[in-house]
Amino acid sequence: MIRNHPLLLGATLFALAASGAQAQNDQALKNDAKSTGDVLTYGMGYNNQRYSPLKQINTGNVKKLAPVWAYSLNNTQSHESQPIVHDGVMYVTTHDSTVAINPLTGKQIWKTAVELPQDVFKYACCGILNRGAAIYNGKVYRTTLDAHVIALDAKTGKQLWKSKAAEYTDGHAQTAAPLIVNGVVMTGIAGGEYGTRGFIDGWDANDGKKLWRLYTTAAPGEKGGDTWPGDTHSKGGAPTWLTGAYDPELDLVYWGTGNAGPWNPQVRLGDNLYVCSVLAIRPKTGELVWHYQFSPNDPYDYDATEVGMLVEIKGRKVLAQANRNGFFYVLDRTNGKLLAANPYVKVNWADKIDMATGRPVESEATKKVRAGEDVQIWPSVLGGKNWTPMSWNPATGLAYANTLNMSWPYQIVKQDYKKGEWYLGMNMRGVTMPKDEPHGYLSAMDPMTGKSKWKMPWPGQPSMAGTLSTAGGLVFTGAATGEFIAVDANTGKKLWQFQTSSGIIGLPVTWEHKGKQYVSIVSGAGGVWALLGDERMAATPAGGSVWTFALQP
Ligand code: CA
Ligand code: CA
Repeated sequence: MIRNHPLLLGATLFALAASGAQAQNDQALKNDAKSTGDVLTYGMGYNNQRYSPLKQINTGNVKKLAPVWAYSLNNTQSHESQPIVHDGVMYVTTHDSTVAINPLTGKQIWKTAVELPQDVFKYACCGILNRGAAIYNGKVYRTTLDAHVIALDAKTGKQLWKSKAAEYTDGHAQTAAPLIVNGVVMTGIAGGEYGTRGFIDGWDANDGKKLWRLYTTAAPGEKGGDTWPGDTHSKGGAPTWLTGAYDPELDLVYWGTGNAGPWNPQVRLGDNLYVCSVLAIRPKTGELVWHYQFSPNDPYDYDATEVGMLVEIKGRKVLAQANRNGFFYVLDRTNGKLLAANPYVKVNWADKIDMATGRPVESEATKKVRAGEDVQIWPSVLGGKNWTPMSWNPATGLAYANTLNMSWPYQIVKQDYKKGEWYLGMNMRGVTMPKDEPHGYLSAMDPMTGKSKWKMPWPGQPSMAGTLSTAGGLVFTGAATGEFIAVDANTGKKLWQFQTSSGIIGLPVTWEHKGKQYVSIVSGAGGVWALLGDERMAATPAGGSVWTFALQP
């Protein structure tokens, strides 16, 4: 009988083995937040909590934390890469290379260059950087500044496939780590300042074939298409330049969208769906299940790309997000219903969020802006918090984030669209630092009230680094001037610090090997802050390196 032909039987067994390995990988990703021996996802778990149950390093002994090794990334651009740790290998990305490092010794295993066109730097908006890799089924995945998605062999670094997402000369770029769910590699796009149209792509993890695309501005005739005048949706922004989160029980991916284009809101009157929103989508098909829009008609470049954390509050599955617009939102993540929205920093663009409609009540200040006046607006273009993710500690019920205390002068102007150039429609004069107050804090916030239990002021320039929480009662983060620090999660008291070789704008992770806990961080100044030309940065040299710490014996 033909079905017993040995060749066919072999092929069937091979297919079964392959799908078995894939299922194991799917399970490992779902378990990542709990598995302490590895870091498989951006966010240290699909829930994006950046929380580890490890507690060998704790408030009592963190003073004995010391570097085990450092590895130079040989790159003087910006470093926001979150390390991935899998099967005895650490993977780190820069804008021009992917490296595999022995996580115990810091020795390089392989390094693969990213080939980029010479003129790509002209188009990358806010720092020449990459935010990290993803790992799945023996492959390492990453995005590139010229808007491609790449898969490498995890063992050798050899490129297996490369797929083009968009044309970089239009202002499209990719910097975020991919999110992989059940064999679908999901990536977003940057370019909201260039009059582009945002989207989220789903790629086949095996061969890089595009499975689906969800455009994040609604075209005429589509649901939400009537929220854009004329064809303004086609240059309407809603970029998707960070990584989403995933709830396997609900099978929903949550992805944040960025600003509307141009920034001038008067030329695109309407809500402009789906700018500055969170989209709940099916990973298999890209189907949009629900959305919530934080800043309808987005007057101020309040990107909602940092999607927030999937946490349980009072037994309810919620999405908690400290939005760039200054409000801390809690949504029921099964359906997008608003549960709380309170300011966590100084806000004057809106008086409040109407809990019945879920919409902001715009302030007198914003009415004046819309009428063409020059007004000082809180928070600034950088937001109450910028792109950097926060972390959650279930024991304290607090969200830990580096927050910003600054405003900006805002006045709309007329501007025509030109391909590949900034398309803002406002008189950009940077941000305004308050005179007698800190410019930023490490804040421990209650998501339901937006209130901080404690705030640790940053002396000098604020931090744009991510945070990590652990069951050891610690919060790890880094300073713009390079100190890697550990803070008591309950009190905000700084317990330990170590001066790394450059400024920190990266994302700390922790993991264990044979019963020993390690903490790793990429150091390397730059990012959006560097664009502001803060002269206080003059004493902080550039240069990316990976640092790994453990307790001294
Ligand atoms: Ca893990
Ligand atoms: Ca933006």
